Amino acid sequence: MKPFPRAEISRQALQDNLVRLREIAPNSKVMAVVKANGYGHGLLNVAQCVDNADGFGLARLEEALQLREGGVKAKLLLLEGCFRQTDLPLLVQHQIDTVVHHESQLEMLENSTLSAPITVWLKVDSGMHRLGFGLEQFDDVYQRLIDCPNVKKPVHLMTHFACADEPDNNLTQQQMDAFTQLISDLPGDRTLANSAGTLFWPQSQCDWIRPGIALYGVSPVFGDKGTHHGLQPAMELVSNLIAVREHKAGQSVGYGAHWTADKDTKLGVVAIGYGDGYPRNAPEGTPVWLNGRRVPIVGRVSMDMLTVDLGAEATDQVGDLVQLWGQALAVEEVAEHIGTIAYELVTKLTPRVVVDLQ
Ligand code: PLP
Repeated sequence: MKPFPRAEISRQALQDNLVRLREIAPNSKVMAVVKANGYGHGLLNVAQCVDNADGFGLARLEEALQLREGGVKAKLLLLEGCFRQTDLPLLVQHQIDTVVHHESQLEMLENSTLSAPITVWLKVDSGMHRLGFGLEQFDDVYQRLIDCPNVKKPVHLMTHFACADEPDNNLTQQQMDAFTQLISDLPGDRTLANSAGTLFWPQSQCDWIRPGIALYGVSPVFGDKGTHHGLQPAMELVSNLIAVREHKAGQSVGYGAHWTADKDTKLGVVAIGYGDGYPRNAPEGTPVWLNGRRVPIVGRVSMDMLTVDLGAEATDQVGDLVQLWGQALAVEEVAEHIGTIAYELVTKLTPRVVVDLQ
């Protein structure tokens, strides 16, 4: 018997999603975003599955080093950039690109002596106001990078969208306009589009797209699904039924005794809980998939298990497979029930969940 709970990761889905993203953005290179343990799908697993991506986007140096140790040769970019001067030689040694978005990073580059220059992506704050140099700082910062011997030329250029997941929000067009105007005749590669930019704002695709969630087959847009764009969910989160119990009308279940059955039924106990990363705040009625149907969670999610109402006529057995999300039950739908985004569900799985690449 396989260990449970498990996140079964489909190699084929990841590869097909990359092919689909290339169809959607035929003139762009793909920087597959695999930070946060490949959005919970396994950092090295994902990078090895889509080893024909043109590059990989990561948040932290440790993630990039794991990929290099795992034999990944492609371009790697640190999306948050580097903050310790002592890390700069590692970027040189392992040929890791870095984003520069802050004065402190610029000073660090200017005040270092390196054996070779580093490839830098200058991040422009075109309207998200989280990271990046403001439009008015751009000329000065760009010139300092050009003058810095530790920076490889040309300098590449990037920005990030705040609201590309809202197809009617005008801020995305404003960000594109501001960025494009600023960098119009400069050399170097450009990148703007995350998954939402790639899917909904094709004008933003340019030299590189940076899809994260879409690579995993999931839509970035609330109320939408990856499958609507020809993408397939790459993760199936499954566990087993570990008890089936007769339950009388009027009886409650679980911590807090919040839910009470209004008629006789059978309850199933599924071996997954918040200790595995399944959200404790999943409300009653959140579906799981069992033997070809949706059944609702009842009572509170506890650390190692949750309970579902199987119905009085149920024939489900201990050992039956339960899907928390995947092909049969879209993670986007589960996220909507829980009042969160699919990103959070997939990245929050804990190490107790076995990641099983298939
Ligand atoms: N680019 C940057 C700078 C990011 O921070 C992220 C993720 O947060 C992405 C791209 C990928 O975003 P998404 O998963 O929405 O495609």
